[in-house]
Amino acid sequence: MEEALHLEGVLRFIAVFFVTVGVPSLLLAYFGVASIRTEERSVGGEVEGDAVALADSFWSQSDRRFSGFESRVLDRLEAGRSPLESPGELHTLLLTAMRLSEDGVLLAPFVEEDGGATAPIEELFDPHWRAVWERERAGAPPAELAEAYFQAAALTGSRAVEGRARFDAARQLNRSGQQRRAEDLLVDIEAHFGGLRDPWGIRLADLARLEQATFALARDPGSGEAALRDLVEDLLAARWVVGEGGEAAVARRALSLLEPYGRREWGAGARGRVAERTAMLYWTGVLLPELRQFQIGGGSLRMGSGALRWQVGERGVWATTWWGDELYAFALDQDALLAELKADARGLATPDSGLSAYLAGPLDPVQSRALVQRSLAPWLPGWQLVVEHRDPEALARLRARKRNQRLGVVGLSTLLLVIGGVMSARLVKRELDVAGMQTRFAANVSHELRSPITQIRLKGEALMLGLADSEEEQQEAYHAIVRESERLSRLVDNVLDFAAIERGKKSYVLKPGDLADSVLRAIDSLSSSIELSDKELDVELPHDLPEVSFDSDAVAQCVINVVSNAAKYSDPGGWIGVRARVVAGFVEIAISDRGIGIPPHDLRHLFEPYYRSADSLARRRKGTGIGLTITRYIMRAHGGDVSVSSRPGKGSTFTLRFPLRAPDPSPTSPSSRDRSPSRATGA
Ligand code: ADP
Repeated sequence: MEEALHLEGVLRFIAVFFVTVGVPSLLLAYFGVASIRTEERSVGGEVEGDAVALADSFWSQSDRRFSGFESRVLDRLEAGRSPLESPGELHTLLLTAMRLSEDGVLLAPFVEEDGGATAPIEELFDPHWRAVWERERAGAPPAELAEAYFQAAALTGSRAVEGRARFDAARQLNRSGQQRRAEDLLVDIEAHFGGLRDPWGIRLADLARLEQATFALARDPGSGEAALRDLVEDLLAARWVVGEGGEAAVARRALSLLEPYGRREWGAGARGRVAERTAMLYWTGVLLPELRQFQIGGGSLRMGSGALRWQVGERGVWATTWWGDELYAFALDQDALLAELKADARGLATPDSGLSAYLAGPLDPVQSRALVQRSLAPWLPGWQLVVEHRDPEALARLRARKRNQRLGVVGLSTLLLVIGGVMSARLVKRELDVAGMQTRFAANVSHELRSPITQIRLKGEALMLGLADSEEEQQEAYHAIVRESERLSRLVDNVLDFAAIERGKKSYVLKPGDLADSVLRAIDSLSSSIELSDKELDVELPHDLPEVSFDSDAVAQCVINVVSNAAKYSDPGGWIGVRARVVAGFVEIAISDRGIGIPPHDLRHLFEPYYRSADSLARRRKGTGIGLTITRYIMRAHGGDVSVSSRPGKGSTFTLRFPLRAPDPSPTSPSSRDRSPSRATGA
C-alpha cells in the first residue's frame, strides 16, 4: 500500500516536473534557437535592404541625369524647334547631335560631302603657284606679285589652284592699293570659284568674303564689322562638312578681326558657338562610324516617333529618336559620363554603411558576393551598378559572434531552468520524504505506545484477577509493569522532547559533575529492559575522568537512546561495550555493539528527524526515528557532538563527545568557571 502511494506520488511529481520544467525548457530552447535564426535572417535582410536602398537612390540620381536630357529633346521636337540648335543646353556631356535621313545620309548640322572639290595638298606644290609664293615670302612688291599670281592661275591645270591663285592676286592688289580691281576680282572668285575649297579645306567664297570684309574694316569700320558679323552668322548657319575645318578657321579669323570693335557680347557668344560647332564637327567625324555600325547592325530600327533609344558605342553613349522620316542622333561622352556615374556610386556608399558600390561594364566580372546588381538599362545597356559589402568576412564574423552570444543566453537560461527544476525536485522529494517519515513516525509512535500499555494492562489485570499463582509470577508481573512503564516514560520523554526541540523550546541546565557516574546510572536504569536482558554489557568508565558541565537528565537520555539502540540492533546474546577516554580537549563516551551495522549511505542521514534505515534488518526492529536526532541536539547543546562509525554486519560505534570547557553560556547564564549551572540549547 505504502509502495503504491509512493509510486503514485512519484508519477504525479514526474508529470508536474515535465509540465513546469521540461516543457518550458524545451520551448525556451526551441524558440530561442528559432528567434536567433530569424534575427540572423533579419540582420542579413537589413544589409540587403541597405544595399537595395543604395541602388534605388543611385537609380533615381541617374534617372535625373538622363530623363532631363530626354525630356528636353522631346520638348523641343514637339515644339517644332530643332534639338540641334544650341545643343549644349541639352546635356553638359553632349559630344555631338545630328539629323540623318531615312537612308542614313547626314543632313544637319553637318554634311559628309558638299561636292566642292578640295584640292589635294600636293597641288600646293603646283610649280607656278609655288614660285610666286616663294617670291611673296622673299618680299617682292605686291603689284608684281599680283600679276605673277594671275599668270600662275592661267598656267595651272587645277581649278582649285587657279581659284586660290586668283584670290592671292586679289590680296596683292589690295595691298598695292588697287582696291577696285581687287574687289571685282573677289566678287568674280565668289561667283565662279566660291564652291571650291583650297588645299586647307577653306571655301574660296568664304576666303573672298573675309578678304573683302578685312579691307572694308580698314576703310569703313562700320561696314567691315557688319560684313564680318554676317560672314560669321552665315558660316554658323551653313552645314559644315565632316572632315573639313575651313569654316571654323574662317569664322575664328573673322572673330579675331572683330575683337577690337564693339558688340563684345555678340563676339563672346559667337566664339562660343563656333567653338561648340567646331568640337561637334570633330566628334561627328570621329563618331559617325559608330553610328553607322548600329545602323548596319539594325541597331537603329525604327521606333515610334519621339521614343528615345539608348545604345553604348565605343566612345559615345548614343540616344537616337525618329521624328517623322528623320533620325536624330545624340552622342554623350562615354568616358566622362561613366566617370560621373562612378563618382555618384562612390559618393552614395558611405563608409559607415559598410557597403561599396561600383559600375560594371558588359565585360567586367562581377563578384559572387554582390548584394545587389542593378542594370543601368535603358540608358547604358550592358552596364550595371553592383553593391557589395566592403568586408563580407567581417560581417560573417559579426553574425557568428552575435549568434554565439544569443545561443549562450538561451543555453544558460535553459540550464538555469533545468537546474532550478532539479533543485526544486530535490526539495520536493525531501519534503515528500519528510512527510512520508512523519506518517510512519505517527504509526510507529502509536505502535510503540500500544505495546507497553498492553503489557501493563495484561500484567495489571493478571494481578487484579489473582491469575498470578505463585509469588514468583506476581513478582515477575510487578517487574514487567515497572519495566514497561519505564519504557513508556522513556518513549513519552523522547516524543515530548522532540516536540520541544522542533518548536525550539528545549534548553538544558549544564552543571559540572561526574560524567561517569551519570552514564553508569543511565545504563543501570536500562538494565531491567528486555533488550538489554540477553546482552553482554561491558562497561569501562575510569573514575578519574576530568570534570565536564552537563545536564545529567539529558545525558542520561542520550546514553539510554544510544545503548538501547545498540541492544535493539544486535542479535540476542550480543555484546555492548561502553568506554570513556579523554582526547584533545574532549571527554569521549564510545558505545559499541557487534550488531547489524549501518549501510554507508545511511550514515549521514541517521541524525535527521524521523530517519530510519530502509535496510530490512533495521526495519524489522520497531522504532520512531527521533532518538538520534534528540541525542545530537543534546550533544550540541553541550558544545560537543555525536558521531558514528559502522560496518554493516560487523557493528557500530556511537561516540558522545563532551568538551572539557563548558560551552559559552547564554547571556542569561553565568560562566561555567564558577561551577554554577548554565543554560544551553543544541540548535
Ligand atoms: P529508531 O527509533 O528507529 O531506533 P533512532 O533515531 O534511534 O531511531 O535511530 C535511527 C536509525 O539509526 C535506526 O532506525 C537504525 O536504522 C539506525 N541505528 C541506530 N543505532 C544503530 C545501531 N546501533 N546499529 C544499527 N543501526 C542503528
